[in-house]
This record gives sequence, C-alpha cells and structure tokens, in this order.
Amino acid sequence: MKAMMLTGIRQMELKEISEPSIVNPKDVKIKMSVVGVCGSDIHYYTQGKIGSQKVQYPFTVGHEGAGVVVEVGKAVKSVRPGDIIAIDPAMPCRECDQCLAGRYHTCRKLRFLGCPGQAEGCLMEYIVMPEESCFPLRGKLVPDNGSISEPLAIGVYAVKKAGIVKGTKIGILGFGPIGMSVMLAAKAQGAESIHVTDKIDPRLSIAKKEGALITGNPLNEDVVSKILNNSKLGLDIVFECCGQQEALDQAVDILKPGGRLVVIGIPEFDRWSINVENTRRREISIQFIRRQVDCVKLSLEMINNGLINIDNMVTHRFPFSETQDAFDLVADYRDGVMKAMIDF
Ligand SMILES: [Zn+2]
Ligand SMILES: [Zn+2]
Repeated sequence: MKAMMLTGIRQMELKEISEPSIVNPKDVKIKMSVVGVCGSDIHYYTQGKIGSQKVQYPFTVGHEGAGVVVEVGKAVKSVRPGDIIAIDPAMPCRECDQCLAGRYHTCRKLRFLGCPGQAEGCLMEYIVMPEESCFPLRGKLVPDNGSISEPLAIGVYAVKKAGIVKGTKIGILGFGPIGMSVMLAAKAQGAESIHVTDKIDPRLSIAKKEGALITGNPLNEDVVSKILNNSKLGLDIVFECCGQQEALDQAVDILKPGGRLVVIGIPEFDRWSINVENTRRREISIQFIRRQVDCVKLSLEMINNGLINIDNMVTHRFPFSETQDAFDLVADYRDGVMKAMIDF
C-alpha cells in the first residue's frame, strides 16, 4: 500500500510500505477515506518537531481521519466491516493513574496517530486502530464530519473546560480550524458575543459569517482597544488559539477582572511570558488545554443534530497524491485556507 511520508524539512514522498494487519482481538483495520491537514502536522512538516517531539525520517503524519472498516478482530463488538467511522487518534494505555482518573488525553503511555515516537499517522491507505478509537458515523454524517470531529472535539472540550454558559462574552484570538471549532462549540453553548482576531482577513470573513460580533486584524488595527471600546468591562473568557506571545498579551488585556484565559495554541517557542500586574491584580485564571478527552462522540452528535454546522470549515480539497501541495498551502496560509482535506 502507499503511504505519504515526511522525508525531511518540507519534503514528502509517496512510498510503498506493507499493509498493517490485525494483531490484537480488539483491533480494527480501516481503509482511509479522508484526512484533514492539521496545524500540528504542519509543525512537523516545516520544523521537523513540536517541542521535544522530533521526527525520525521517514515518518507519516496525519491524525484527522475517517474511513471504512475492512476487517475486525475477534473481540470487536461496536463496529463491523463496511461501517464508515470517525477515528479518534488517541490510543491511551487505559491502565495508568491518568487513564484510571479518566484523563486519557494525558495518559503516561499515550500513543497518538502521527506523533513521532508513538505511532505512524493516517496519511496511508490502511491503518489499524483499537476498537475504542472507532466511532461509526450514523444519521446524516459523512466522512468529512468524521474527520472534522477531531479538531472540533478540541473546541467542544475547551468550551466545556472554560465553563461557557448562556450570555458569556468571549474572545477567540487566532481563527484557524481550532479557533473556529471553539467558536462553533461556544455558539452551541449559548455564548452571547464573540470577538475574533486573526492576521488573515479571509478567516475573519468566515468568523463574520459565523456570527462574530467584532473581528479585528492585529496587523492593521489595535484589536485590544477595538474590543474594549465595544465591551467596556472586558470579556469573561478569552481563548488563545494561535500560539503567539502577542495574542496571549492581548488576551490578558481584554479580560475582565476574574476572567479566564484558556490557552490552546501550540507556540513554536519554549516559554510563555505573562504580565504579572495585569494577571495578579485582576485575578485572571489560566487554563491550558491538551487536545481533548471524551468529546469525539459528543462532537459527532452535535453535528448530526444540527447544533453545530461545519459547512464553512472545509475550504480546500486535494487528492492523496497531491498531499504536499495541501501542506504547502496550509503552511503558507495561502488562498484563505481554513481546513484542507486529503481525499483517498
Ligand atoms: Zn488535529
Ligand atoms: Zn494511560
């Protein structure tokens, strides 16, 4: 079978490798249908690493996938061959203290699709996953929904952790697929006024279309005053979704006293810096978000029952053989790209 493997910085090759097979009784073999390109894949493509996690070439990334079940192990009960499924890329050990506490996302022996040193990604024709990672697409759901459920689940989880209720005023700084997932989840949860900033104007147009009250581009305006002019008392919750120091500083500035800063972005540097005066005197709480836990199924249900509409998320599509073009497009933020999908 064919796998699209990273072979160096900004290098990628379609290689012939052997097909994976069912080893454990709870394994499911999946033929990939579609894979979304994620910002974290791009970090591995352009930097060869995220923090201490370094790529050993050749390596396959990709973790936002949907596919068709082609074979199942003896003990598999929840899916059968022919089922179209969403794939949760996380494979926790289910035995460590974190797993026993339900914190599968911080499992001490976590294996995650397309994460160096853990597991190859799903930019290949077939993969094998444990049954617990497979979520059948029911109702109106199509493979794209399955793939988008991965980033969307992070938004749903972050919104849950942040404690958004009806009427909450929020800010989203950085409006890529994760920022957009936060917005969709926050709207579903009743957030009242949503303020969005990004350096790319087409993304701000999508935010407007989705109902953002105020949008701002920090490259050509003072987004802090723009937001505070409108919401004089400040915002209840601000999500940092781009991994930029200036966004973190702006987030602190637009929060009201007692407000909550939720940090989801993955920076390309090693340390955040935080303004002591503005966080301490105003008693800002800070919550970091690590991916998500238990929110894939919920995200799929929210799409299926119309609470969340992802129609504005997918902006580009590429055939599997042109994966590198998709990665270049996303890496260079060209052509107003939000989410690029790879079709098998
Ligand atoms: Zn992702
Ligand atoms: Zn564990």
